[in-house]
Amino acid sequence: VVMRDISKESLAEEARGDFIAHVSHELKSPLNTLALYSEALQGDQGQDEAFRVDAYNVIHDETERLASLVDNLLNITKIEVGNLKIEKQRVRLHDLLHDAFDQATYRGKTKNLRLKSNLPPELSAVTVDKELLRIAINNLLVNAVKYTPANGGVLLAAVETDAAIEIRVTDTGIGIAPEDQDKIFDKFYRADTDTVRGIGGHGLGLSLAREIIELHGGTLTVRSVLGKGSEFLISLRKDRGLVRQAI
Ligand code: ADP
Repeated sequence: VVMRDISKESLAEEARGDFIAHVSHELKSPLNTLALYSEALQGDQGQDEAFRVDAYNVIHDETERLASLVDNLLNITKIEVGNLKIEKQRVRLHDLLHDAFDQATYRGKTKNLRLKSNLPPELSAVTVDKELLRIAINNLLVNAVKYTPANGGVLLAAVETDAAIEIRVTDTGIGIAPEDQDKIFDKFYRADTDTVRGIGGHGLGLSLAREIIELHGGTLTVRSVLGKGSEFLISLRKDRGLVRQAI
């Protein structure tokens, strides 16, 4: 008689099943919307100029959302399967953060947010995968803009200590309840409130951001007060000096 403990395998199987069910669900709802609008455009409603403008906007937004879902999924899967090629290079963090901030400023404009940055130009270089780090910071900034109501504020700041570089994304947005603060880093987890449901998203951005930061030996943590705002903190171990050689 050969006895084999398959509890681990069946757990992995179950997780895979859950994952696929989630992904299918997330893909299905925007696809339904796209189908609905494209059919309506072909019918009588397609003659109505106002409807056409509405439909183009919905189709544009849903397509962007689908693209970001697929990008996040691909990156998470690559990291988890272990076949993501990390291309680390010495990076001048100031420039990378500055670029990310500029993009967020662009998105925040439409909501009349006060976007500020505090990025010392003399930040030391770090050895990181530039593209991945950009995704992580971008996901935090996108969230800060997304979850902060009009006229609020978002701050991107970096400080250097002896051993680490700390990057903070702070907002005066809706905040996160204490019981959610651990869970938001889980795949597909979204706070179960009407406000969050109304804003839309897939619950993958933070999970991917944390995986990326951990892949670099760093940490990503959150402090937040519901109704007041949130602060996400990336802490990266520092390389000594050598900003000159940074790419
Ligand atoms: P998504 O934003 O697509 O839902 P994320 O993984 O980026 O997915 O975030 C997970 C959840 O964490 C969000 O659904 C939201 O409930 C919460 N969250 C993330 N960032 C913020 C923030 N800056 N302010 C308030 N809640 C946030």
